[in-house]
Parts: sequence; structure tokens; C-alpha cells
Amino acid sequence: MTTSPQTTNASSHPVITPEAILNIFYPYVAINSESGTSAENAASAFVHRHFKENPYFRIKTDHFGLHKIKNDPFDRQVAWALVKGRGRKTAVFIHHFDVVEIEDFKRHKAYAFQPETLEKSLLDDPDALSREAYEDLKSNAWIFGRGTADMKGGGAIQMAIMDAYTKLESFEGNLLLLAVSDEENLSAGMRAAAPLLERLRLEHDLKYVLMINSEPHQRKTPERGMLSGGSIGKILPFVYARGILAHAGKSAEGFNPVHLLSEIVRRTEMNPELGDYRPEAGEMSPPPTWLMARDSKLAYDVSMPLTAFGCLSVQPLTNTPDRISGYLLNTAREAAQEVAERVNRASDLFCQQTHRPRREVKWQPVVLSFSELVAHSTHRYGEGFTAYYKDALKKANDKLTTGEANNATATWSLLDAIFEYIGCEQPTVIIGVVPPYYPSVSHLDRPEYQRFIEEITIELNKFTAVHYDQHYDLEAFFTGISDLSYAALMHDEISALEEAVADQMPLYGDFYSIPFTEIARNAMPCLNIGPWGKDFHKISERVLKADLLERTPAMILKALELALGE
Ligand SMILES: [Zn+2]
Repeated sequence: MTTSPQTTNASSHPVITPEAILNIFYPYVAINSESGTSAENAASAFVHRHFKENPYFRIKTDHFGLHKIKNDPFDRQVAWALVKGRGRKTAVFIHHFDVVEIEDFKRHKAYAFQPETLEKSLLDDPDALSREAYEDLKSNAWIFGRGTADMKGGGAIQMAIMDAYTKLESFEGNLLLLAVSDEENLSAGMRAAAPLLERLRLEHDLKYVLMINSEPHQRKTPERGMLSGGSIGKILPFVYARGILAHAGKSAEGFNPVHLLSEIVRRTEMNPELGDYRPEAGEMSPPPTWLMARDSKLAYDVSMPLTAFGCLSVQPLTNTPDRISGYLLNTAREAAQEVAERVNRASDLFCQQTHRPRREVKWQPVVLSFSELVAHSTHRYGEGFTAYYKDALKKANDKLTTGEANNATATWSLLDAIFEYIGCEQPTVIIGVVPPYYPSVSHLDRPEYQRFIEEITIELNKFTAVHYDQHYDLEAFFTGISDLSYAALMHDEISALEEAVADQMPLYGDFYSIPFTEIARNAMPCLNIGPWGKDFHKISERVLKADLLERTPAMILKALELALGE
């Protein structure tokens, strides 16, 4: 990589002042753009209005806009802006403007979005904060409030940099900013941004060279900052267990699905075999954990539940959906076998001791993947089933759109509907996946990007050592889940990924989909350069002032110079 020589011409250097950042930051934070609600629209309108008032965009009216998210229940939009310099090289800024809810703020809720008032209010309530957070509050080095770190801070930095570039007479390269919704939920914004990236690339003949996200970074030790060359994945496999209903007094005649599900939970909860380990990066998936596991009963009575459903959170560094489903299928088969033997034995003993005839047919649970279930049912029941399934899927989608169901409960009711049609003589386990799916992405797995990202990191470290006496490590995966998951999928991997997701995720299609092909066509190396933040999603969420106002913007400018230079 070569860097452009430093010039002394003032008009070729973008200038970012702390005031410019704060003038965007405070009003941006003041918007309660709660994730997964129509309140997010106020944030996209804010970004759009901000650029509309900039003299550059008053002339270049086709260089910014709002991009509609297709089929979105809240009519949300991606706000975007493009500042053009010389040549095709283009760096892409992304940030999300949604924030999580403020339940945790308790009596300080009214000030959650007004950092200055909130800080005063928290100073009088030390018990509301951890000791470390209270010390940070007293130090005056941090700004507290919902969205300050995650991530209106990073968003304000990006917007201030865009403004600074609009004032330059000319510069090398182009800058595109995407402000997206729904990152804390299903990343509807970032998934919708893929076709926008494609359209802008073709319309303006752009060549995407680097995606910069500015999610807050976390530190293992206070002395070392963190950059991320990728993002950890997220996949949510489900287990649907269907039993044989019986009165509790006749348990020997039934089969409890809770027994099946809990044996699968026992074998997989915190099981490191479902995660992966990257010794070269010193990184490991957090052990998997069940986000929900419950039965279908809504009221008390003396019968067994008919079904049980659970959802497991797996965060892969390398593992793909089909490998994870394959592992779960094997585990579920072994678990079901063991549970069936236990139930058969207990029921035989009960019949023997009470001189009842033994059940002639033994329980032999069936374990299938979701795609096998659909294939078997279609094979056996033909077009009747296909039409019925299509209708059931539409009903599930409608429930999701109206908010009557969530991804898990909609999937559960869809499976109930399938079994109402096909019936069920043996206990059955179905394994599949619920939305959302975040692919894991890292410069380590992209030989074509690895050197570029590592070289930028080296240069940034030279810069920060001189100016701030700070070192920044490069981690292979941002572990907080981020939109960078959708930055850098490769052509040779997308067809297998898409097939696995489409096969295993009942809700894949109208309600939820990933534009794999567009992502691969517009893939680019990615890097997270964000301010130091702490306690995201908590009452004590905060961002470091020095990073927000000085270091992070300077580092991003440096990275742009390296990426866009000739
Ligand atoms: Zn975030």
C-alpha cells in the first residue's frame, strides 16, 4: 500500500472539531430510536435532514437520500450520503442508529437520552451504578446515556467526517455513509443496504475498498484499545419436540416432550463442541446457551404437554449453519434414543408390577431436520400438503408482521400446523434455525484482505503511538455482533450458506432473507474503528470523551488516507 504524500494545502485536509461532533452527537442521542419500532424513523430523518442542510448536498441533490427497506412493518429507511472526490476508490461508513430499550434506567428513565441531565441525576444516586461506573462518572472523562456508546457516538463521528470532506476542494477517492436501522434486532437496515450499495456502485462507478464501522470498542486492559477486522457470527438453532399426550396418571401410555427437549438441552448447554476456537487469533466462541426452552401448555391441567420448543444461541467464528445443524441432529438422535429407552423401561416396569399388558409397540423417536420434515411430508401428501404449508407459512408471516408472534413462537406455531396435517405416531424431534443469521467474517479468513487490514493497523499504531501514546490491538472478530457480518461474503461460499439457511430456517423467504448475492458482489475488507465504550445496554452505558472528540476521528481520517490514497 502506498500513502499519498502530505500536502500543505489547507483545503485538501479535512478538519474535524470537537464542537462539530458534539453538535451532531447530542441531538442524535436525544432521539429515542428504539430498535424494532417505528421510532427508528426519527433517527433516519435526522441523518437525512443533516445532510440536506449541508451546502454540498444542496447542489448534489442526487448524492444523498433515504432508501426504503422492502416489506418493512415499520416503513423504516436507510439514510445515505455520498461525497465524491477523484477516482473510483470508495470507503464506506456504516453505523446503526437504533438503540435498545431503557428498562434498566429505573427512576432515571426521563433523562436516558439527555447525557448532561442524566449525569447530574446519577451523581446523586451512587447505588444505581457499579463502583467503576461511579468513578468514571466523577472523573468527567465519559459521557453517559443510552446510545452514547452504542452507537450514536460513532455515528456522529462519521457524519462530522462527511461534513469535513464536503468542504474540501478536492480529495482522493469517495466517501459513502450508510446509517442503518434494526442492528440490535434483525439487522433489517444492513440487509436492505446491500442492494443500495450495488445501485450506487453502478450509478457512480465506485470501487469499494474498505468498510468502516464505528461500534464502540471494549478493552481487556485500560491501556490497549481495540480494532476489529471482522465480526463474530450468530445462529439460533431450534429444537421442536413433539410427544404423545397422556393423563399424568397414565404416564406409561404417553411420552413427555419436555423429557426430550431437556435431554438435548443438558447435552448442549455450554458445550464447547458447538463453538470454535481460533488459536492463531486467541479467540473462542462464547459457549452456547439456550435463550428459551419451554412447553406448550398455557394453563394447568393433569395432562402432559404436547410439544416443547427451545432456541439455542451459537456464535461461530468459523462454523457454518449446516455443520451446526449436523452436530445438533446427531446429539438429538443420541438424546432421543436414551430418553426412549428410559421411558420404555419405566413403562414396562409399571405394567409388569400392576399386571397390565405391556405396550406392544415400543417408543422409537423420529429425529429430522426441518428440510427433511418438509420433503417427507411433500412426498407423502403431495400437492395437498404443499398448498396447506404455503397457507400456514403465510399465517406465520402475518403474525410476525403484526407483532403477534416473534421469530421463535411463529416457527413453533408453523411446526404445530404441519403436524396437525401429517399427524404423529411416534415422539418426534425437528431441528432447524430461527432468524436472524449473522455470518462470521474475518480478515483472517480472507487472504485477499488480510494484508491490507494488517497494514492499516500497523500504520494506525504508528500514528497513535506518536500522538496519543496508545496501542491498538487488532482482533479477528468483533464479539458484540455487528452489521459487518454482511460486509464481506465471498462468491465461493454464498451458495452453500444460502442453501443451508433457506433449508433449515422455516421463516426464510418473505419475512426474513439475506441478499447473499448482492453482498458478495459488493464485498470489501472491513474494519471497526470506534470509541472506547462501557456497559452497553445498561444504565451506565458511556463513551470516552477523548475518543469521541479526538482520537477516534483522527484514526478514521488516517485510515481513510491509507485506504483512498494512490
Ligand atoms: Zn451497536
